[in-house]
Amino acid sequence: MRKIIRNAIQCKHCGDTIESVNVHDYVTCGCGVCSVDGGHDYLRRSYKTSPEADYIDLSEYADIATCTYGEFDKDNLKLKKG
Ligand SMILES: [Zn+2]
Repeated sequence: MRKIIRNAIQCKHCGDTIESVNVHDYVTCGCGVCSVDGGHDYLRRSYKTSPEADYIDLSEYADIATCTYGEFDKDNLKLKKG
């Protein structure tokens, strides 16, 4: 599983590095061409022309190991009617 640990871009027009640190943190660069949003939950970018023309992506990811365990059946204990 891939986890976002940094959601950031650098604008190629004004040179600003902007980072979204939480899911509702919408940040726009100094010249207004690029924006980031989504924090560590998802990556959202706004730009004018194209990602290649407008910004350098500085996002970082971490690979998280996941294990699958069986779930305990909470309904296993049934009420007995007298
Ligand atoms: Zn800019």
